[in-house]
Amino acid sequence: MKKSNQLRKNNQLRYKNFTAVIGLEVHIELSTKSKMFCGCSADHFGRLPNTQVCPVCLGLPGALPYVNKEALLSTLKLGLAFGAQVNNFSKFDRKHYFYPDLPKGYQISQYDIPLSQGGKIGEIRIRRIHLEEDTAKLVHQTLDGKKVSLIDFNRSGVPLVELVTEPDFNDPKDVVGFVKEVQLIARYLGISSADMEKGSMRLEANVSVAKDAKVPDYKVELKNINSFKFLEKAIVLEIARQIKLITSGEAVVQETRGYDEAKGTTFSQRTKEEAQDYRYFPEPDIPPLRFSDELVKEISRSLPELPDQVRKHLISEYGVRADYSEIILADRKRVEFFEKAAGLGREENISPTLIAELMVNKNMDKDFPEATGLIKRILELTRRQYAKANAVEKAVKKVVRENQKPVNDYGQGKVAVLGFLIGLVQKELKGKGDSKMIKDLLVVELEK
Ligand SMILES: [Zn+2]
Repeated sequence: MKKSNQLRKNNQLRYKNFTAVIGLEVHIELSTKSKMFCGCSADHFGRLPNTQVCPVCLGLPGALPYVNKEALLSTLKLGLAFGAQVNNFSKFDRKHYFYPDLPKGYQISQYDIPLSQGGKIGEIRIRRIHLEEDTAKLVHQTLDGKKVSLIDFNRSGVPLVELVTEPDFNDPKDVVGFVKEVQLIARYLGISSADMEKGSMRLEANVSVAKDAKVPDYKVELKNINSFKFLEKAIVLEIARQIKLITSGEAVVQETRGYDEAKGTTFSQRTKEEAQDYRYFPEPDIPPLRFSDELVKEISRSLPELPDQVRKHLISEYGVRADYSEIILADRKRVEFFEKAAGLGREENISPTLIAELMVNKNMDKDFPEATGLIKRILELTRRQYAKANAVEKAVKKVVRENQKPVNDYGQGKVAVLGFLIGLVQKELKGKGDSKMIKDLLVVELEK
């Protein structure tokens, strides 16, 4: 965390007496088989529009929702992975608002009692993690020369986790580091592809700036950000915009803003609603949820090894470089491959650092479906290296034996003859020798 403190300092310098205050909302679509409150398939990406729908997820009057248990368990897993407190009693609530992607006029979400509260990643505190249903997808197109908006209900009702952090970030770079870690954790838990491009992970940032360490009384919500790169850029732009406003004596309006990559600006979308505008009330069609301590313990025990634990293993147990370990642990399969190869390598005296190096720099694990293949290849390469070293050593010995005068000169401190001797060895090897290897072996031989 030293690095992030340093960044924070740099950041504060850059913003002079202003400090950015940033909180995050991360939406993660769960990869459950069925949707949150009906039996329709939740796997909606790239499917023919409106083919995975039923009265429940179309919001038809009288249709009754029933809860997807798998989605509940996945959300609890995520909370427990962050060390959150699971609420033994929880419930769903209706969040009312009008938009064409929400035919019921309300979204089933969670208001005052989310599935879990608290937890941390590094220094960033998590406020809450709750479960809700995703909305339908609006597709804006031009049909017969007219601009139209089409609605695809395949996404309507897909389980969606919302993770909200405390406003603990001061540096946009830390925000990106955090969401990358959340993405990794979701993938390690196997609860979501957390793929930004497919929209299974979506980000919103609440940005405000504090002047002279005074807590800001507003926040601007940045929406529709679809890559890590844009997230950082959008926040940086927004901080600059707010500082400019405040410096010129204007107040920053509490609102929702989008990000325009082409123009390099954020733009106003709508003024931000307050919680009371949503008229939350308990969902009457779904009974409250209860989770026993035993169940919570059982889920905790079932958690797989998480990215941070893997990180520690790779660095401290295997001695892998920190940057290499990040590359390897970004893909769970590569971690498994590495661990297997390192185990096999131990028997053959092949160091785990060499294995990591070949995986990261030469992508060698991609060439071999099995770790044993990589190990065989490494052995082959070292054997070849060994054969080369043998030939050089032979030539060195011959040159030393047959050129007593320069050898004696070297013994008397005339180091300059080394170049001449290297030339002779190279001649023996018909110019195919590795000059560094020749020099090393020659020095060893001369100093015997
Ligand atoms: Zn349905």
